[in-house]
Amino acid sequence: MYPKIFQKLIENFSALPSVGPKMAERLVLFLFKQDKEKLLEFAQNLTQLKDLRHCERCFNISQEDLCGICSNQHRHNSTICVVEDSLDIISIERTGLYKGVYHVLGGSLDTSTENNELKIPELIARVQKEKPEEIIIATNPTTEGDLTSLYLKRKLQDFNIKITRLGRGLSTGGDIEYADEITLSSALTNREQMN
Ligand SMILES: [Zn+2]
Repeated sequence: MYPKIFQKLIENFSALPSVGPKMAERLVLFLFKQDKEKLLEFAQNLTQLKDLRHCERCFNISQEDLCGICSNQHRHNSTICVVEDSLDIISIERTGLYKGVYHVLGGSLDTSTENNELKIPELIARVQKEKPEEIIIATNPTTEGDLTSLYLKRKLQDFNIKITRLGRGLSTGGDIEYADEITLSSALTNREQMN
């Protein structure tokens, strides 16, 4: 049997997504072999994770009130790309193609999600205030993502803005977060107008 602290750490790691008990054991053993200094830095980073917050404009993960993208003067505020979560932003940023700003919904619509859990009212308020020229709906190519996209289109159609959706080519049922740069670049370039 492992010492108690070892056992507890194995439980902590096993609770992470995609980490099984065997992998957790290996990780704890690996950490045990590290310098104390490295471990302290790791522990400190973990503790500080909760100091992060959501950007008050786009709801991306941020260290400040406004995230790095919203506070960047070179981004074009005339285009808002709506994504399900912050990890999708990382994928889109990797293409280097997109120069606009984002809006993170915090998930997608499905039968179990109440509409008011998503940042949709915030998006509408933002559209009224910022008057963008184009909204790119970049929800995932899943049933829930499509449902969300149609719902957003209905909500936004009374505003005089162009509404587009990422082009086909992203594999159905997949996730933007896992799409490769070439596929995502082509989906952005070949976006289809919805209205
Ligand atoms: Zn932001």
